[in-house]
Amino acid sequence: MARVLIIGAGGVGQVVAHKCAQVEDVFEHITLASRTKSKCDKIAEMLPRKIDTAEVDADNVPELVKLIKKVRPDMVINVALPYQDLHIMDACLETGVHYLDTANYEPPEEAKFEYKWQWAYQDKFEKAGLMALLGSGFDPGVTSVFTAHANKHHFDRMKTLDILDCNAGDHGLPFATNFNPEINIREITANGRYWENGQWVTTKPLEYKRVFDFPEGIGEKDIYLLYHEELESLSKHFPDLERARFWMTFSANYLKHLEVLQNVGMTSIEPVDFQGQEIVPIQFLKALLPDPASLGPLTQGKTCIGNIIRGIKDGKDKIYYVYNICDHQECYREVKSQAISYTTGVPAMIGAKMMLEGKWMKPGVWNLEQLDPDPFMADLNRYGLPWQETWLDEPFQ
Ligand code: NDP
Repeated sequence: MARVLIIGAGGVGQVVAHKCAQVEDVFEHITLASRTKSKCDKIAEMLPRKIDTAEVDADNVPELVKLIKKVRPDMVINVALPYQDLHIMDACLETGVHYLDTANYEPPEEAKFEYKWQWAYQDKFEKAGLMALLGSGFDPGVTSVFTAHANKHHFDRMKTLDILDCNAGDHGLPFATNFNPEINIREITANGRYWENGQWVTTKPLEYKRVFDFPEGIGEKDIYLLYHEELESLSKHFPDLERARFWMTFSANYLKHLEVLQNVGMTSIEPVDFQGQEIVPIQFLKALLPDPASLGPLTQGKTCIGNIIRGIKDGKDKIYYVYNICDHQECYREVKSQAISYTTGVPAMIGAKMMLEGKWMKPGVWNLEQLDPDPFMADLNRYGLPWQETWLDEPFQ
């Protein structure tokens, strides 16, 4: 029985709060804190049992420390934004509590995410006897565990990895992002990058496109190569991988809007002077776009996220595909959120559960693929993200 402090009351925070509340024997006491307390209170009202709420600026370490000392959690689940990761890690170290997040640190002034800042906390967490679990969402997160599962149970040697992230949902609006628009647009407009033969290969943004026939009625979709953070940790932790890539689906309509916004400078992170006030265009754009949390009732269709891994088993070349299908409307019925927030929030709850139950608890800073995949894979089936696995005849080129 544990006490948990969830920080961040956005789309993902809402799902984490719901899922933790469902697992009362592990998460005995829950506090939800965020910059805007009214958002925490709104989520708290939806839940079947009472939780505490609080206001906190997670960029302010003394304020965080004060809150953590008051709440006395066993761990913090950080589902605020990647900019807050290091501040929250510092506060956890100062107060002696475990840490979990779903996205790696990104400096606000530079569209660049890397694990180096958080991996640098390895010694501090180890010496303090505390655990930090990095990237416990879907991708990274479940895709990292899928890779560890394939490595443990299906291959003697994995050679290539392709992570395919398909959102076949439709919200009926002209343009909206499914999670924080600023983070989402920064990711998509950056150069692509993949791992091949021991080095990174850089592509122009969305330069590589393929068509993939997704299972269970989703059908053929355009997918584009992106750089994604789990490629950095997976290529490090599975050094046999000759190639590792990440792909995401985008509709022609989405890309057209994005192109126009980019052409007129609305996706820029450089501050501009507007009538005597400094504004960051992408932050202004975020204020105009629909709140991702508001897409829940509107979005219909499914997501399909999974890994295609080619490798050797018993001397034979094999192609393995493991994936989850998630239905936007079913998610909404359960937790009043669409599937993108759901597929991130459920693994955050499961990662926290793994730690609190002692199945994954060990001091230091860890990515999910470094831990035993079996109990996590079992809980995916139990808590709303069932997975399927199959062998393919044709490689994904
Ligand atoms: P939202 O923008 O919907 O929510 C972010 C929340 O964090 C908001 O409630 C916001 O407060 C709060 N917040 C922001 N800054 C601070 C601060 N300084 N102090 C306290 N609270 C703050 O984002 P999402 O819920 O969509 O995403 C949450 C996280 O999940 C992000 O880090 C995102 O990158 C990650 N993610 C990971 C995925 C994965 O598969 N691994 C997939 C999707 C998302 P306010 O409401 O006041 O602005």
